Amino acid sequence: MDLDTAKACVDKIFESYDREKYSGILLKFMGGEPLLEFELLRQIYEYVHERYPDTKKMLFATTNGTLLNDEMKAWFHGHRNGFYLGLSIDGTPEVHNHNRSGSFEKIDTGFFAQNWPEQGVKMTISEYSIPRLAESIKFIHSLGFQKVRGVNLAEGNFQWDEEEVVRELVRQLKELVDFYVENDNLYNQMFDKQFALCEARDRRKFKWCGTGVSCLFFDVDGKQYPCSYFTPMTFSPEELKEVMSLDFSNESLFACDKCFTDCYIYPMCPTCAGANYQTNKDFGVKDDIHCRTQKLICLFAAELEAQRIIRNPKRYDAHKTYYTINAIEEIRRLYYGEFEKYGI
Ligand code: SF4
Ligand code: SF4
Repeated sequence: MDLDTAKACVDKIFESYDREKYSGILLKFMGGEPLLEFELLRQIYEYVHERYPDTKKMLFATTNGTLLNDEMKAWFHGHRNGFYLGLSIDGTPEVHNHNRSGSFEKIDTGFFAQNWPEQGVKMTISEYSIPRLAESIKFIHSLGFQKVRGVNLAEGNFQWDEEEVVRELVRQLKELVDFYVENDNLYNQMFDKQFALCEARDRRKFKWCGTGVSCLFFDVDGKQYPCSYFTPMTFSPEELKEVMSLDFSNESLFACDKCFTDCYIYPMCPTCAGANYQTNKDFGVKDDIHCRTQKLICLFAAELEAQRIIRNPKRYDAHKTYYTINAIEEIRRLYYGEFEKYGI
């Protein structure tokens, strides 16, 4: 993207910003590798701050960390409160090097951990990662990172239906639950579930993400799309034309009626409308692997939550504790039987 196009995109974003509705703007740069365009990032930062000084904003880029040189470090350190760099690491050096062409030694993990310790590390998993999942996550925390995000267990080129894969996953999730019980200050997005929502009486259908509404995406030519999924990288021109003609503000288009009506954990089941559309031609309908994985994760997240409440019964107020315990019991009742044979 050239600077003029970038400025025009920034203007569109800031001019469409609704202060009443949103609490700020997150300007996120995606690659490939955003640090290949460090100079452009710096120019955009300066433009945004000069042109829109009074709007609450944060700039953010995810990087593999391999290109970060001394000049970049000095600049990012000086701007660390206005520009966050998120690091992608896949686990221990062994796992990372297996997944990412031996690049672990090129990353100064300490720089990221010192400047943005609360920033979640993004972790992608592969078949190789599965038997090393717990070890990898613990390793990332040991580097000084408080949060691990982006562990998407429903992705990857492997057979989630194979008994040994599920068995191994169960072993890893067990180990992780034990770890997080002992390390209550650490966070893993995978286990972050609001159980009390499942017990809410006024359950409603909702759209999980902001695609096409609170999220705007621009390609290198400045062409606008609903988000990074609904682009020519994923869909054919015909499919995109069809998708873009739909009303992204219509929340009911994004809900799965069957999940909403029949599934207890519907309010906690994350979903990507883009992935759903790619698989099922429907924004709301998730695939079976995603469904099964979510149930398994919910079981372990419920176990973690139960252990944490036992250790600290005053963790939540009385109402939330009551609903959370009800939800934990219901989740065990509903899903334990399905996974019992895997040694859960
Ligand atoms: S559709 Fe998927 S990629 Fe797009 S904003 Fe929603 S969750 Fe993110
Ligand atoms: S767990 Fe399965 S049935 Fe339940 S909401 Fe998620 S995808 Fe739907």
